[in-house]
Amino acid sequence: MESISNNQAVRRGRFAPTPSGFLHLGNALPALLGWLQMRKAGGQFLLRIEDIDKPRCKPHYVEQIYRDMDWLGLDWDEGPGLEGDCAPYIQNERLQLYERALDKLLALGHLYPCYCSRAELMAIASAPHGLASLGPVYPGLCRELTEEERKQKAQLKTPSLRFAMPDRSQSFLDGVLGEQCFAAPAGGDFVVKRADGIIGYQLAVVVDDALMGITDVLRGGDLLDSTPRQLALFAAMDWAAPQYAHVPLLVGEDGRRLAKRHGSITLNALRASGTQPQQIIGLLAYLAGLLPEPEPIQAADLIDEFEMSLIPNHHVTLDQQAWQVLI
Ligand code: GLU
Repeated sequence: MESISNNQAVRRGRFAPTPSGFLHLGNALPALLGWLQMRKAGGQFLLRIEDIDKPRCKPHYVEQIYRDMDWLGLDWDEGPGLEGDCAPYIQNERLQLYERALDKLLALGHLYPCYCSRAELMAIASAPHGLASLGPVYPGLCRELTEEERKQKAQLKTPSLRFAMPDRSQSFLDGVLGEQCFAAPAGGDFVVKRADGIIGYQLAVVVDDALMGITDVLRGGDLLDSTPRQLALFAAMDWAAPQYAHVPLLVGEDGRRLAKRHGSITLNALRASGTQPQQIIGLLAYLAGLLPEPEPIQAADLIDEFEMSLIPNHHVTLDQQAWQVLI
């Protein structure tokens, strides 16, 4: 398995939504900024559908993602409907690639079977959290099992597979947030394949970013805590990691992450109520620091304005005044 990121002459970015719901303003922000980053750099922008957690994902959400991207004027150079060398661009069609990566990681000794039950994991849940968004650190109960113990447990339960996080801190320079350092165990050992066979998000993302030659990952700040895990996977696979940039999360006036309770925030609902895509692009560009006022504008007219250094390094509030712009 060769990553193509090592000798990539052209920069490549991607938007990688999970079709477990309709796109909303919060997802549209990284989509717009990732698109602008690549358009300004003369790079390529990929669309990847992250439907690995099949029970949560629905085909009609996928269809709507294509329509919403078109509507916002955010085109892609490779992705569903525009198959390039790295096809397919839908995770459920890439399962063999993830299995091959798992085989390699297993052979290199980076994975171990975990037999912990839900109840045991729930008990850990009351322990202090390692990284806010990732939940408690797995204390490695199954990491040191002997072969004999593994055999015994395997008779009772199908294991999940966990990646053993290296015992060192993980640092990287984030394009928006600056220098980031996560002390070991940086979130702890995590599941790369669930007992029901579903591949873990971290593994799928790393395999895809590497094999698709992604040089720049621009995504929402909610995924910052995943980055040390992904860097550890890149290192274990001996692949060069991309540059990361985590852009602000949109929050409501109550300081909480934008969600249904804040109103009709899906692009679908906004379109149905007569909002024009230029209004949304203008508002997002304003919130991202690219425009002094939230005036309506086409995405293509913002390419020159894009500067990573303008993007705020903190949450951004969508207040009443901002909502007015969309009406
Ligand atoms: N699929 C993830 C999401 O929708 C994003 C993954 C990524 O950008 O790394 O939250």
